[in-house]
Amino acid sequence: MSYQQSFQHPCSHEFKDSEWLPTENGILKLHPYCSNCGLVKNVSSDTAKGLGYFANVLGRLRSDLERKGYKISKAQIRLIMEELKKREIGDTYSFSFTKQKKLFMDVATKYIKINKNYLESHL
Ligand SMILES: [Zn+2]
Repeated sequence: MSYQQSFQHPCSHEFKDSEWLPTENGILKLHPYCSNCGLVKNVSSDTAKGLGYFANVLGRLRSDLERKGYKISKAQIRLIMEELKKREIGDTYSFSFTKQKKLFMDVATKYIKINKNYLESHL
């Protein structure tokens, strides 16, 4: 089961130019941007993870909850992964890990009734 391979961004990003933009902590930094689609590359040290990372997190969460007697179905996992893909969480160029975590928790808690702190401890 590899979600990583099935993820395809429609643009193959070419970073030729840069512009000065504030980072998440407000410091101005040169950010390369794509000359095709305009996407700005994340340049913080808060490096984004690939889609496969979140598939693994869900797998671990599922087995942990199962041990506690709470069952997550394959359909729930599939719905979460589909929505994460649609929202391009695997686009490591534009996301920071912090933003990915927030998106992941928003999506996962839509499909699994779970405490956010417990969920975050798996990330
Ligand atoms: Zn692009």
